[in-house]
Amino acid sequence: MPAPIYLHRYSNGRIPDSGRAMQQISKGDIPLREITDPTSLPGDGKFYVRLVEGFYQNLRRLISWPLIVGFFALAWIRIEGQPLILFDFASHRIFLFGSQLSWYELPILAGLMIAGAGLLFFMAVGWGRIWCGFACPQSIWTWIFIRLEQLTEGRAAQRAKYDREGLGGIRLIRRVSKHLLWASVSLLTAVSFSGYFVPVEHLLQALFTLNASPFTYGWIIIMALLTYLNAGLIREKVCLHMCPYSRFQGVMFDRDTLTVTYDQARGEPRSHLRGSPENSGDCIDCHICVQVCPTGIDIRNGLQSACIDCGACIDACDQVMSKLGRARGLIEFYSETQLAKAMTEPQPGPVSLLRPRLIGYLAITVVTLFGVAYSLNHRSPVLIEIAKERGQLYQVTDEEVCNTYLLELERFSDTLKQLNVSVQSQDSTNRFRLVGKPLIELSGDQTNTIYQVCTPKQELSQRQKIRFIFTSENLQIDKISRFLAP
Ligand code: SF4
Ligand code: SF4
Repeated sequence: MPAPIYLHRYSNGRIPDSGRAMQQISKGDIPLREITDPTSLPGDGKFYVRLVEGFYQNLRRLISWPLIVGFFALAWIRIEGQPLILFDFASHRIFLFGSQLSWYELPILAGLMIAGAGLLFFMAVGWGRIWCGFACPQSIWTWIFIRLEQLTEGRAAQRAKYDREGLGGIRLIRRVSKHLLWASVSLLTAVSFSGYFVPVEHLLQALFTLNASPFTYGWIIIMALLTYLNAGLIREKVCLHMCPYSRFQGVMFDRDTLTVTYDQARGEPRSHLRGSPENSGDCIDCHICVQVCPTGIDIRNGLQSACIDCGACIDACDQVMSKLGRARGLIEFYSETQLAKAMTEPQPGPVSLLRPRLIGYLAITVVTLFGVAYSLNHRSPVLIEIAKERGQLYQVTDEEVCNTYLLELERFSDTLKQLNVSVQSQDSTNRFRLVGKPLIELSGDQTNTIYQVCTPKQELSQRQKIRFIFTSENLQIDKISRFLAP
């Protein structure tokens, strides 16, 4: 059994005696319970999450509301007629906060993902699973669904009673209302999510006029069902058994990682007596910290992979401690170092933020973001592809040899209206003549045009490189291609 680590004095002033506590543990006085499956709970494993108020719940609201509003609103926002965020498969382009990226610029998106991962790892090293508890869509939607559940079916105890005593009359109406509300939120979520891939106004119009393709209807229904299932029915099981992030997160923790921890030294031995008798700790075994836990675990059993660091148990226990007139923080965000220091020092102090891993992940995030910003600012407003026309190597006339080229131009800035085009040999020894308009008008997003390039026969080598030069105000793009001759 691992040695217990103690943090605080008992609220009655006693300093924890690790030797005595060890004896108690070995004698079995402290009711330690080994957890094999954190979801195993009395009955069929179903539990009823009790909602609580407090600092961490307010913090979650502060974080999650802008994210919720952002998720539903961003798909609708247009800047000068262009979507703020749209992954447009049809036109092979990505609209990102006023910039348009081509499918070929996916590395910029990859950079954004690397920066996001760096930030996620930074948070994990510093503050454990706060992403899961405060910002993960799975958690946020689960809280929304629990709120709707409470709105329709009442508090946790009442919901448990419904399930025990069966449905009928008003209870059935309440249950049906809950599922209707869940289904509505799921549908809204599915449509909004799809609005990041198809312009949302087109999508809605197609859906309501029944002109959408079977694929679109199928996609919306699957997304809605997944939302309904994840946030309404299986909830914590997604975090426990399906989320890959929770699996490797544990290896990122170091001794200074802050994570939700029960102060065992202060809380044990538990007592049902509120008077805090001399031989008991501060935990009165009220189980409220378990009742509010969205993953149904008892944090007093120690650090568990099922804990998503949501802080609900902290708020619940702080309320209990306040009512008892005891110090808050029996459950709090503590690090292993803090807990170890507390054995010898009255105040363990704050954790150090100057840690190599923490700084490393932050550096990766910042450097990658700078790279993305640089790439966005220095990217070409037009993508040009030059291909030799298939099926014909060259054309020979009496005096010249000609090659035919197909130019594909994809424009990413409406301010770019036209491009001058010219051609020359790469080593400037041959005279090439461009047959076609020297000025390309860029009216739409994509322009395809065909050019011929000819050169006198006597100046030929069999195969050489030529340079196409595209210019406009403040812009020059060179493209190299091959010129073939007999
Ligand atoms: S809420 Fe606090 S006092 Fe109540 S059981 Fe949990 S840790 Fe003990
Ligand atoms: S143990 Fe506490 S912090 Fe962890 S998931 Fe449960 S309520 Fe949230």
